[in-house]
Amino acid sequence: MIDLSFTKEQEEFREKVKEFALKEVEPRRKEWDRQGKSALPINGRLAEWGLLKSDMDNITRGILTEEIAYVDFNSAMPLVWATMPFVLHELPGVPEHIKKQIQEGILSGKSFLALCFGEPGAGTDMAGFKTSAKKEGEEWVINGTKNTISWVNADYYFVCAKTGKSEDGIWALTDFLVPASLPGVGKPEIWKDLGSMGAVRGKVDFTNVRVPLDYMVGEMGKGYLLAAEFFDTNRAFIGLKCIGAAQASVDEASVYARKREVMGKPIAGYQAISFPLAEAQTLLEAARLLCYKTLWMADKGARHTTEGAMCKWWIPEITLEIVRKCLLIHGQYGYTKDLPFEQRLRDILGWQIGDGTAEASKLLIARSMMGKDYVG
Ligand SMILES: Cc1cc2nc3c(=O)[nH]c(=O)nc-3n(C[C@H](O)[C@H](O)[C@H](O)COP(=O)(O)OP(=O)(O)OC[C@H]3O[C@@H](n4cnc5c(N)ncnc54)[C@H](O)[C@@H]3O)c2cc1C
Repeated sequence: MIDLSFTKEQEEFREKVKEFALKEVEPRRKEWDRQGKSALPINGRLAEWGLLKSDMDNITRGILTEEIAYVDFNSAMPLVWATMPFVLHELPGVPEHIKKQIQEGILSGKSFLALCFGEPGAGTDMAGFKTSAKKEGEEWVINGTKNTISWVNADYYFVCAKTGKSEDGIWALTDFLVPASLPGVGKPEIWKDLGSMGAVRGKVDFTNVRVPLDYMVGEMGKGYLLAAEFFDTNRAFIGLKCIGAAQASVDEASVYARKREVMGKPIAGYQAISFPLAEAQTLLEAARLLCYKTLWMADKGARHTTEGAMCKWWIPEITLEIVRKCLLIHGQYGYTKDLPFEQRLRDILGWQIGDGTAEASKLLIARSMMGKDYVG
């Protein structure tokens, strides 16, 4: 039997997150965006509110993402990541006392772990990564550049590096924990992005960075698998982040359409205004179902690569268009920086790229339909 309702606890959690978002996130939204300030300190506030827990299920994390993004797109992702949703945060293989120290720091909002996959010469094509890790005695020596890292000023880096031969492709990759304080970790260079400013994206160099052997995360040559598992679930969170921002836009446009009078009546009375809003609400409902289904599969331990990829290519695309229409419904006011539409457009656009482009996502879906031998 299908039960599409949220539990009482989940509904209560949603209400608390809404309150948190209005009191703690909304007053800081413009500062993060305009001044490119990291939204990370907000994790400490979530911890103080008792809402930062590592044992919540993925559906509940989805609620957190959606409701925070309704108020501010930028802070939704660090807040949900701080609940440590991924196996990456479990740091399999790393000594218990190090793991504990890192995990406690993340859960109290005091530190953060940034994920370092992308490189100057390769993003989609992970087999093309050049960053290397070589064993020397009792240490791994890491060299390379990771150049598109969200929250690049984090305390710890999760670095995907090549430990095998180039001909082994993605099976040559292994993951490592690298504390940012180690010698050889360069000062992060922050990029001037179009949006997602609170994500403070940038580049970091690793030059002869030495980590103990047991800072290798998971198994040798399985670095890609850990990353892929992370992407599958994170793509549903990205979808919900976009949905939050688009739903806020639709709600604001619906209020404005009842207030704004043109040629003697509220614009809500014109079907050219009300129908796009009705279509947007329908699309958002369908998109929401896809995201929560994906997270439900993650919670059940079912493979959700295809569903995650569907969230990733489709939802940033439809929500970008929904926000654009809502901006236009506000006429000239919608085009000002006083209203949040322009920020939402810039922010969503970045997530048409981050964590896998639409093309990369469609490849995954097509392969699940027709097989890897046919779909290149
Ligand atoms: C806001 C944002 C946040 C990010 N955060 C992080 C982060 O925290 N950590 C991290 O490691 N990275 C991060 N990234 C990097 C991101 O994951 C990569 O940019 C992305 O995977 C694409 O890689 P690329 O930019 O190198 O593009 P490329 O791989 O060079 O692709 C260029 C173009 O070719 C297309 N393309 C590639 N392969 C194919 C194919 N086989 N068929 C058809 N088209 C194809 C792509 O879709 C794209 O349009 C972030 C990026 C953004 C924008």
